[in-house]
Formats: sequence, C-alpha cells, structure tokens
Amino acid sequence: MKRKPRTVIVTGAAGTIGSAISRAFAENGDFVAVVDLDGERATRTAGNISGETGGEAAGFGMDVTDEHEIRRLVQHLTSERGGVDVVVNNAGLQHIAPVEDFPTDRWNHLLNVMLTAPFLLIKHAVPVMKRQGFGRIINIASVHGRTASPYKAAYISAKHGLVGLTRTVALETAEHGITCNAVMPGVVDTPLVRNQLRKLSEADGISEEEALHKHLLHKQALKRFIKPEEIAGCCLWLASETAASVTGEAIGVSGGW
Ligand code: NAD
Repeated sequence: MKRKPRTVIVTGAAGTIGSAISRAFAENGDFVAVVDLDGERATRTAGNISGETGGEAAGFGMDVTDEHEIRRLVQHLTSERGGVDVVVNNAGLQHIAPVEDFPTDRWNHLLNVMLTAPFLLIKHAVPVMKRQGFGRIINIASVHGRTASPYKAAYISAKHGLVGLTRTVALETAEHGITCNAVMPGVVDTPLVRNQLRKLSEADGISEEEALHKHLLHKQALKRFIKPEEIAGCCLWLASETAASVTGEAIGVSGGW
C-alpha cells in the first residue's frame, strides 16, 4: 500500500548537505519544504529536485533566525498540508578567528543561525507534532558537537549547544511519538569547508590541500571527504519507522573522528 507523503522541512536546503537531504526525502516520496536564506536558490533547488526525482518540493526563501517567519512557515504547512512530520535543522555557516579577535557580531550571528534557529523551529513544530502523535526532529550538528578545533569558538559552542538541545527535546517529547536526534557529520566538501580551508592555508602559509590534511583529515580514520548523500541516508533512517526507539542520540557520520 502506498503511504501518505510526509511533510518535511529542511533548512539551509539550497546548500550542499541540505539539498542532498531534501533530495533523499523527495525520492522517498515525501513533500519537502526547501528553506534557505537565498530564496532564488531555494526555488531552483526545489525545482531541480522535483524535476529529477518526480517527488514534491517547494522553495521557501526565509531567514531561519526570524521567529515570525518560522511561525508563518509552520502555520502555512499545517493549513496547506495538514501538518509537519519531519524537521531537519541544517542551516549553518562558519567564521574562523582566534577567540581574542572573534568579532562579537559574528559570534552572535553563528549562535543565532545554528542554535537559536533550531530552537525556534522545534518550538513551533512540536505542538503540531504532539497533535499528530508523530514527529521526527533531526539536528545537523557536527563532529564539532563533541570535540574542538582552534579558531572556531562560535561554531563549536553552537554545535555543542545543539547536541544539548537535542537531548532535552528528546526527553520532553518521547511520549508523544516524537524523536529528536543529532547527526554529526565529519568533513564534507562544501563551500563552508572550502572557505575555511582558504583562510587556514593563508594563516599557515601552506596550500589548501595541506591545510585539509593538517587541520581536518589527520583526525579522521577514513582520510576522505564524507559524501552529502551519506549524511542524507542517516537522516532518512532517523525519520523512518525502524528508528522509532532512537531518540536523544548524537550520531557521527564522520569517517571515524
Ligand atoms: P553550505 O554553505 O553548503 O549550506 C549552508 C546553507 O545554509 C546555505 O545555503 C545558506 O544560505 C543557508 N543559511 C545560512 N544562514 C541561513 C539563515 N539565516 N537562514 C536560512 N538559511 C541559511 O554548508 P554545508 O556544508 O552544506 O552545511 C550544512 C550544515 O552541515 C551546517 O549546519 C554545517 O554546520 C553542517 N556541517 C557541515 C560540515 C561540512 O564539512 N561541510 C561538517 C559538519 C557539519
């Protein structure tokens, strides 16, 4: 029997990992709200996903740190589609600087996008999920949610906080058929990583390839980039019926880091 398409929100979904996650859910027969700050890319990504997978996706240009917009999105999907089944908090960005030089406005912005925004989407989606008696919340943290590297104070603080938020929400929602888990990717070849490699290579006076091994891959057993599809596969499983008893976990897709 064909199951009803679930309604899935993916944030930062025009980016590398977010678009792979969106594609995986669309291929699985779900409807995906492709949410990104860059509205044009969100719409284009949704169009490509629909065209190539035959699945359903729609682009939403919005800033996930804006509570008003988050509330509107959840209300819109609830009235148009009957609810929100899966939320993937994926939007993110990086800023590299020694802690004593870290600009306070960048600190605030990174924490807003990677910790406050997931809190906001969870806050507004949970009442809908409770009414449904079903929900899957997936927070894209990082291996930097359980370990640290120099010059990434805001990113690492946000990702550690996101793991704490995940565990708290899991405890509060378990008896309503809702699970909440974090996925901790290792290094994926995306603009977010390429930008930091450029800065690290300039700071150390070495090539980007050398910076990749010195700062990132030397800590990892597999010695290769993680594929966005590998992160997406983990999300799809966490949203599945067979993962119903997995909650409050922070799962590495890290290549052994
Ligand atoms: P990316 O730069 O390709 O995508 C990030 C997306 O987030 C962009 O499309 C951007 O427009 C969007 N975004 C940023 N601020 C936003 C806002 N305020 N509102 C809405 N959208 C916003 O980066 P990526 O590497 O695909 O990262 C996705 C997630 O994976 C991030 O949370 C990142 O921390 C995490 N992650 C990435 C890696 C990696 O190696 N690339 C490793 C671990 C974790």
